[in-house]
Amino acid sequence: MRDRSDWQRLARDVRPRHRAFIDGAFTDAADGAEFDTVNPATGGVLASVARCRAVDVDRAVTAARRAFDAGSWSRAVPGHRKAVLLALAEKIREHADELALLDTLDGGKLITDTTTIDVPGSAAILQWYAEAVDKLYGQVAPTGPGDLAIVTREALGVVGAVVPWNYPLEMAIWKIAPALAVGNSVVLKPAEQSPLSALRLAELAAEAGLPDGVLSVLPGLGPEAGRAIGEHPGIDAVAFTGSTAVGKLFLRYAAESNMKQVWLECGGKSANVVFADAGDLDLVADRAVAGIYTCSGQVCSANSRLLVAESVADELTGRIAERAGALRVGDPLDPESTMGPLISRRQLDGVLGHIEAARAEARLAFGGRRLLGETDGYFIEPTAFVDVPDTAAIARDEVFGPVLAISTFRTEEEAIARVNASRYGLAASVFTDDIHRAHRVARALQVGTVSVNTVDALDVTTPFGGVKQSGYGRDLSLHALDKFTSLKTTWFAGSPQGSPEGRA
Ligand code: NAD
Repeated sequence: MRDRSDWQRLARDVRPRHRAFIDGAFTDAADGAEFDTVNPATGGVLASVARCRAVDVDRAVTAARRAFDAGSWSRAVPGHRKAVLLALAEKIREHADELALLDTLDGGKLITDTTTIDVPGSAAILQWYAEAVDKLYGQVAPTGPGDLAIVTREALGVVGAVVPWNYPLEMAIWKIAPALAVGNSVVLKPAEQSPLSALRLAELAAEAGLPDGVLSVLPGLGPEAGRAIGEHPGIDAVAFTGSTAVGKLFLRYAAESNMKQVWLECGGKSANVVFADAGDLDLVADRAVAGIYTCSGQVCSANSRLLVAESVADELTGRIAERAGALRVGDPLDPESTMGPLISRRQLDGVLGHIEAARAEARLAFGGRRLLGETDGYFIEPTAFVDVPDTAAIARDEVFGPVLAISTFRTEEEAIARVNASRYGLAASVFTDDIHRAHRVARALQVGTVSVNTVDALDVTTPFGGVKQSGYGRDLSLHALDKFTSLKTTWFAGSPQGSPEGRA
């Protein structure tokens, strides 16, 4: 087992790639501009990274289109794409420590998470899509006997992927694995806070045999490189994960450019609903703590709201406070730490602002302060408020930090109505030992995923995404392929006696 000093030593040897990866090679931004990416645990600059803008996006799209038209990837037999993606999954595993360190240093994520979740999860997801790609069949339509109509899935062409910083490698993989598997070219923009693992990934993909131009990675700022991807007329679809506000911008970019498809995975305000018949309150408390304090609350489906039946509210709040008090907030390179920093100074200020505002609307149960340790990192205490009215901002808005809003309810109908009143609809959890109630409530909740007696259940085999202003795209599972393919009908006319039936 490695300890903190082992990881610190390994971290000193990491050499981040800092140039854009376009058309199979590392390159500076056209104007040579750079921006700094910062280690959230120290506030120190990790690397100066190419600051791509519209002209660089244009270069990447041109290369992506050329590669798509040439067909060495887009029209390769599925078995070939499978082999290359499996080789990439293997390379991710070979370089697991380095990729984990990049996400820990750049994203402030616990090394215990990046080594056990982010990196192995990314390799597994890539492998899953690689293995799926030569098992996908088209359809034959039930036409009249004289005709033959087939329905095939066609790659779209050039896909733009714009992703956030909370799971830097994994969010990139969620988009590029299914998009590449079916033959698209991809132009990926990682978040400006955490571009380093995606740049290394692009290099590994080239080594695995991905042809030049098929995957370009362009670090850059949202309003520059991100917007240029949204507006580019040569991009056929954008797969976006990020905030609701920016998701709406992508809809506008598409409307004002080429009507590209826009797939949105956006924010959330996911609730735990705990009924009095939830038998094991220790399990509920464990899950509630994991649901809000994992990744310092910077998870789109974080269970940031807890609605609990009045009769068990005090008991549950006490058990949650006990567990939150035992969390060790500290250096993400230290395997003993159980909560790391927030991503940036801006995020820290935003979360502290939410906490200040909440003091006037609810009662602070625990936490609430910035933690100043040995460094200038962006650490904050795990925090919870009780007696939070539904009108309070922390009950309605996405805080994206370790802040739990607890309130009580009396009836099942009331709990359902209050969860469904949210403008978001990403996920929710239901805790109950009554199977009938679990089924009833799960069906009634307007969200993309309901976890019963757990939080944030998700796997590559099941679709993940939201409803309402949490977006409408689905990542993971075979359903993700719908975003990256269009259905083509090819109709072979029959003999002169036969004619197409049922034509519209
Ligand atoms: P963000 O919306 O600020 O940024 C996401 C991406 O969009 C980044 O790459 C950023 O550079 C880019 N971007 C920012 N401004 C842009 C602009 N004007 N034009 C084009 N692109 C722009 O989000 P964030 O702060 O990086 O991430 C946190 C958000 O992501 C939260 O709202 C969280 O809920 C959401 N998220 C959702 C999911 C999901 O699957 N639903 C998963 C993870 C995170």
